[in-house]
Amino acid sequence: MLRLLTASTSVTRALAHRGFASSSVGAKERLVILGSGWGGYNLARKADKSLYDVTLISPNSYFSFTPFLASTCVGTLEFQCATEPVRGIKHVNYGQGWAQSIDLTSRTVRVVPALPPLHPTKDDLPIDTTGAELHAAFSPGDAYDVQFDKLVVATGCRSASFGTPGVTEYAHFLKDNLELASEPTISPEEKARLLSMRIVGGGPTGVEFAAELHDFVSQDVYRIYPHLKDQISITLYDLAPGILQSFDASLRAYAERKFSRAGVTVRGNSKIVAVGKDYIDIASVGGEVERVPYGLLVWNTGLQANEFIETLPGLDKDPKSKSLKVDPHLRVCDADGTPLDGIFAIGDNATPNDGHRLPATAQVASQMAGYMANLLKRLGRGEGLDDTSPFKWKDHGSMVFIGDYRAMVDRSKASDGPRARLSGFVAWIVWRSYYATLAMGWRNKILIPVYWTLAFFFGRDVTNF
Ligand code: FAD
Repeated sequence: MLRLLTASTSVTRALAHRGFASSSVGAKERLVILGSGWGGYNLARKADKSLYDVTLISPNSYFSFTPFLASTCVGTLEFQCATEPVRGIKHVNYGQGWAQSIDLTSRTVRVVPALPPLHPTKDDLPIDTTGAELHAAFSPGDAYDVQFDKLVVATGCRSASFGTPGVTEYAHFLKDNLELASEPTISPEEKARLLSMRIVGGGPTGVEFAAELHDFVSQDVYRIYPHLKDQISITLYDLAPGILQSFDASLRAYAERKFSRAGVTVRGNSKIVAVGKDYIDIASVGGEVERVPYGLLVWNTGLQANEFIETLPGLDKDPKSKSLKVDPHLRVCDADGTPLDGIFAIGDNATPNDGHRLPATAQVASQMAGYMANLLKRLGRGEGLDDTSPFKWKDHGSMVFIGDYRAMVDRSKASDGPRARLSGFVAWIVWRSYYATLAMGWRNKILIPVYWTLAFFFGRDVTNF
């Protein structure tokens, strides 16, 4: 069965039938946003609801504040501090589903619900929360169409494994490893393996995870598992000779010195060629392959297009990232490079067609969302695209936490304000203050400093991971 959801009069009934919040539609245009990440969630908040009837489609009923994910993995923050509910945005209809295809002629998006089937059959697969598998877990009979006047695609990317065998199969939980390593019957070899923590990818996310892990070990494991404290090793691998290649050379050197003093091993020029249940194979520059055991493996080596974008036919895509090529007003282009009317892409799944590659960051996605909200407002008021200047990314610089109350701020290439580099404790204050103020809801603006304070005085909460 296929249902058509639109936001005009007949359609409001259909929306209500689906249980979406009905909105006062009138003559408003239908704006459909795909994705509830940095791009989609921000746009849904900022879009002018007096001009548009806004519907957001995403498998996640929440927004993930990705810069805090590393902190939540080791209990510095609770998971709720890194999420915001989509249903908290006023006057936005929400459908929990995966966009599957776009029909450019009927201007509809086919959506597969990211919910268990109402009447499960024995053939229905168990619900899996890992993305593509979840997509496959629902029968196509549950699909429905959502009609749009304006469409903004903000479905992001997924982590790239570069086809390395074993990467997606093996997941380990940090606390289980610490408890297992404490068992009296465990052999010394098995204990050494469980306590070997290996992080693949030396970009900001891998570095921040290594830093959080180091602080967790030095501040909390020392207290809670004193018998394990000297046996834990943290190793960070990258294909490049060192870590944080996008940062200024002096800051890179500072971070590597800091890690070396803290006992975090950085191994550059290392390519992980295979992942097994309890080992990884690392090829060095010379080509020789070394097999090392791991207890915890964190994979963070960049991005690849998500399945939805990859399978959309007839659109201009970047050959390398497979993301959608967009014109200077962020309009998606057809296969000939002609911009499509009223169809836009923002965030990680969008690449400007002027040859300037933008970094895949929250900063770019939220600037695009702000630009898009403004552009849609102008279009909604009857202004033409020519009245609006093209999207221009402002580089505000980069920040990274490197552990032990230290961070680095690199504004050496910033396109506005003073160009500066900062490292150490003051940079850490800047880093924390910036992200605390960036939290979107008041609940988290209050909760985040509270959890930081609790972790500082009473240690991290190790019950939940
Ligand atoms: P996302 O935020 O990834 O959102 C995509 C959304 O689309 C999700 O809600 C997803 O569920 C949904 N979706 C996917 N497929 C479909 C579909 N078929 N139909 C409908 N919805 C779909 N950047 C920084 O600038 N600073 C940082 O400190 C930082 N830290 C990071 C830490 C981590 C752990 C990670 C993973 C990333 C980090 N980034 C950071 C990068 C930043 O999070 C991304 O660049 C940003 O999330 C991109 O925003 P987006 O809206 O394009 O995509």
